[in-house]
Amino acid sequence: MKNQIVIHGGANSPSTLNEKLQKILDNLDVNGSSLDLAVKSVVMMEDDPTFNAGTGSVPRIDGSIQMDAAVMSDSGFGSVMCIENVKHPVMVARDVMEKSPHIMLAGEGAVEFARKLEYEYYNPETEKSREMMDKLKASIKNNTLPEKFKFMVKSSSDTVGAVARIDDKFAAAVSTGGAFPMLRGRVGDSPVIGAGIYQGEKGAVVATGIGEDIAKDLLSFRIYQQIGTDDLNEIVKKEIDKFKVSVGIIAISDNEYSVYANTDMAHAEREL
Ligand code: ASP
Repeated sequence: MKNQIVIHGGANSPSTLNEKLQKILDNLDVNGSSLDLAVKSVVMMEDDPTFNAGTGSVPRIDGSIQMDAAVMSDSGFGSVMCIENVKHPVMVARDVMEKSPHIMLAGEGAVEFARKLEYEYYNPETEKSREMMDKLKASIKNNTLPEKFKFMVKSSSDTVGAVARIDDKFAAAVSTGGAFPMLRGRVGDSPVIGAGIYQGEKGAVVATGIGEDIAKDLLSFRIYQQIGTDDLNEIVKKEIDKFKVSVGIIAISDNEYSVYANTDMAHAEREL
């Protein structure tokens, strides 16, 4: 089958961002493995402050920015959880897979690992994340938190992800600042194997949306397991339609790909 890459800009990201994502794929250096391409496209989205990943990540309720990212390919799985002050969490996740004996690193340990590999200190804060904090502080003060929670979750553009099929090999990559508002130390689905990401010889799957619900359902693994039993779109739709919270999926198999969400989800695809 033809080589293919699919990317998303997160559950709740408006389709007006499709064009931006398409440009990212148009400008993507397409040399390399499925893992190279998935990671490279996620790095480009981490660099764009529009998205809730890398630069542009949403803050925790204490104002700090902690990020999660993961990769999965034929080489295995790697993820970082609650990593701080690095520019490209997805690259650190890849290094966890390729250069450490572990599959997941969290918090200070993840930051130390990144520094050992010479990832420089980087502050991913943006004007937008500062504004979100100011609004949150104001709503705490005015005792109007529950309503503001809903409003803020809806208004943030989200997590980014990619799935790729190159020479019949699959890879998946994901990066997020998390689901605002959240406590410091909170981990969602994205860096958890089988929850927000899964890959195997049948394909690759990446999820976006409210991580607590996605993780409880082991959504990415559940979809992966069904590849080949029905049209990929049908499998994905059936699983997502069960959710009452915002959820989206991009998935790829040896002859299909699927993009589906129960809410807006910016996305782009490119055949290579
Ligand atoms: N799934 C991410 C999380 O819960 C957020 C997102 O996809 O927007 O951390």
